[in-house]
Amino acid sequence: MTVTSEPGSLPAYGVPMAVDHTGAPSLTVLARGQWRRDAACGREDDSWWFTRPSTRAHQVAVAICASCPVRRQCLAASLVYAEEFGIWGGTSAHHRPELVARLRDGTPLIEVLDHVLRANKRLASRRSSRSSRSNRARGSAA
Ligand code: SF4
Repeated sequence: MTVTSEPGSLPAYGVPMAVDHTGAPSLTVLARGQWRRDAACGREDDSWWFTRPSTRAHQVAVAICASCPVRRQCLAASLVYAEEFGIWGGTSAHHRPELVARLRDGTPLIEVLDHVLRANKRLASRRSSRSSRSNRARGSAA
């Protein structure tokens, strides 16, 4: 039997929140943690994931998360277990309470995951086109 906290309540540390997992990684998958074997951060300096958002290390960690093959599982685990510290799935500790609150209000996990991952993709695409434009401008100015 899997122990979860009551729907709508804040989970105790290490106790998963009761959420709708339909279409999202199951609680069993998240709890077993085998997805961690494919984590892009596995060989990096852990401290980068626990630095202040204004630091270069924070930005590097978020960029590594952006291309991590298990980002969806990592983000799901951080939300279901209401992780209070560090970057998980590319989200900061500052950003996640709002996402956890949506789950507590009954929003299915898949909706929250899709919302975050789509928003991050749009942001990455905007950054990439800004960078291409600025490279082209530099090239034509040379
Ligand atoms: S999403 Fe980021 S924090 Fe999560 S496993 Fe991947 S690299 Fe590590």
